[in-house]
Amino acid sequence: MSGKVWLVGAGPGDPELLTLKAAKALAQAEVVLIDDLVNPQVLEHCPAARVMRVGKRGGCRSTPQDFIQRLMLRYARQGRRVVRLKGGDPCIFGRGGEEAAWLEARGVCCELVNGITSGLAAATNCGIPLTLRGISRGVTLVTAHTQDDSEPNWSALAQSGTTLVVYMGVARLGEVRDGLLAGGMRAGMPVALIENASLPQQRECRSSLARMQADALAFGLRSPAILVIGEVAASTALELARSA
Ligand code: SAH
Repeated sequence: MSGKVWLVGAGPGDPELLTLKAAKALAQAEVVLIDDLVNPQVLEHCPAARVMRVGKRGGCRSTPQDFIQRLMLRYARQGRRVVRLKGGDPCIFGRGGEEAAWLEARGVCCELVNGITSGLAAATNCGIPLTLRGISRGVTLVTAHTQDDSEPNWSALAQSGTTLVVYMGVARLGEVRDGLLAGGMRAGMPVALIENASLPQQRECRSSLARMQADALAFGLRSPAILVIGEVAASTALELARSA
């Protein structure tokens, strides 16, 4: 008998933002491997499953990626139904694609289940419409942190005219600012810094490109947080709609 692995997005934190499909996958799971940005409240959907925490926040002690993959493989080969639960969406800065390919190369059946990614949830929760007719014609999701320490092409991003949603940016606000300013983005471009999006402890700080690092420091911004950079970050949806 061969098992199966579901790579499931748990959404940004609010347990009500879990999809019905994710809840179904959890309900039938025998083993659940849970990342540390996942709200443990979603485990109410899998009361009978064996739950293992395999979180690995940047800079903290962590379960090595290789070990997690081998764990999934072992349980699947034992014929178990395994859910790997990740924060947000499994394929947005979540290694979902890599893990699916790795498992499939070893003959394990694998299914990806969408979650609401934190960048989109953060903006909407704060009343920021990431696209808005006449103001923002697109959105770019980008990470400020890369494994090889290479810089994103900030100039291209500055010139794109899209709203930028930056993940993993808290420790790199200075680099993001310098890159975008050098790329021609205006110093007064509105920025929203959103911490713990969709959770009761959500906090938001409105700032501008030039001031965001100093404002984040004064605000005590902590990870996990999303940066929304663009004209739409200036105000709430209602205000923007009125002025459009
Ligand atoms: N797969 C996840 C992203 C994982 S990368 C997703 O789709 O959301 C981790 C980064 O996600 C954090 O550094 C932070 O930038 C962002 N993040 C995750 N949860 C968040 C939350 N509740 N509030 C704000 N940012 C969050």
